[in-house]
Amino acid sequence: MSEEHLTKILSGTGLAAQIRRELKEAIEESKVQPGLAVVLVGQDPASRIYVKFKTQASEEVGIYLETVELPEDISQKKLLKVIARLNKSKDIHGILVQLPLPRHLDTYEVIEAIDPAKDVDGFHSENVGWLSIGEPRLMPATTKGIMTLLEANDIELAGKHVVMVGASNIVGKPTAMALLNKNATVTICHKLTEDLKAHTKHADILITATGVPKLITPDMVKEGVVIVDAGITRYEGKVVGDVDFEAVMDKASYITPVPGGVGPMTVVSLLQNTLEAMRAIEGLD
Ligand code: NAD
Repeated sequence: MSEEHLTKILSGTGLAAQIRRELKEAIEESKVQPGLAVVLVGQDPASRIYVKFKTQASEEVGIYLETVELPEDISQKKLLKVIARLNKSKDIHGILVQLPLPRHLDTYEVIEAIDPAKDVDGFHSENVGWLSIGEPRLMPATTKGIMTLLEANDIELAGKHVVMVGASNIVGKPTAMALLNKNATVTICHKLTEDLKAHTKHADILITATGVPKLITPDMVKEGVVIVDAGITRYEGKVVGDVDFEAVMDKASYITPVPGGVGPMTVVSLLQNTLEAMRAIEGLD
């Protein structure tokens, strides 16, 4: 690696810890304790781990937490009743339904049933709409985490060419929208994109969220690229992202590690959303 090209690791761990400290102080000083309900349906092991991260972090900063564990075979009607109860609860300002839901349930009907003011995952069509017109309210946590990480590291977005690999409603699409709102020029790629490399090669900033290990190799990026890898996959006994980290690292000016990059930023963004939701609901801003 040459002297003038030192790769900087975009760590989410330290930044997320700092934001958690700030949140804890803000919550201690707040007149109202923010409350978060986490709804977990069934026994999916990955979902249980994600819920554990989210609930531990919530408790650490002083968010009141209600974990609602429901059986795998719960009916749509019963699940909607749980959401209706949480929508009405005065103690709850944020409702998170851990995805994916079992196949027999209609995910979008469940998301649309959440009061948009309490939709701390930012998946309700109303919040998606606000983001699309450039007036974001509650933004999906991974998107918010990526934007916070870029901003904290003074990475310029206006006019830059960002290639977003992955076009899901959870990560790819909202992140592309948030980047466009910051005046980046955004290309969105997905699994049917022909010649992915022809696009990624031109990226000033490359963001990936596919769940395909080693999808991004050194020949696919230009010298000095900023890489944000949101992928999380268990591969050969390790947790890895979408980027062949070791191989690509020397070409990147900035790169996120996996784990320790986008993951902790996602969790802390959910906590920020819960505080934001509480302030809006209670009229505290
Ligand atoms: P998804 O399966 O809903 O979407 C994957 C996207 O990647 C799709 O748009 C698909 O077209 C695209 N894709 C798949 N294979 C591709 C290929 N070969 N080339 C180009 N595009 C391809 O998944 P998701 O929910 O968006 O999650 C994606 C990844 O991000 C997963 O690894 C997931 O674990 C991770 N994730 C991480 C966080 C976090 O906090 N870091 C949060 C959510 C999801």
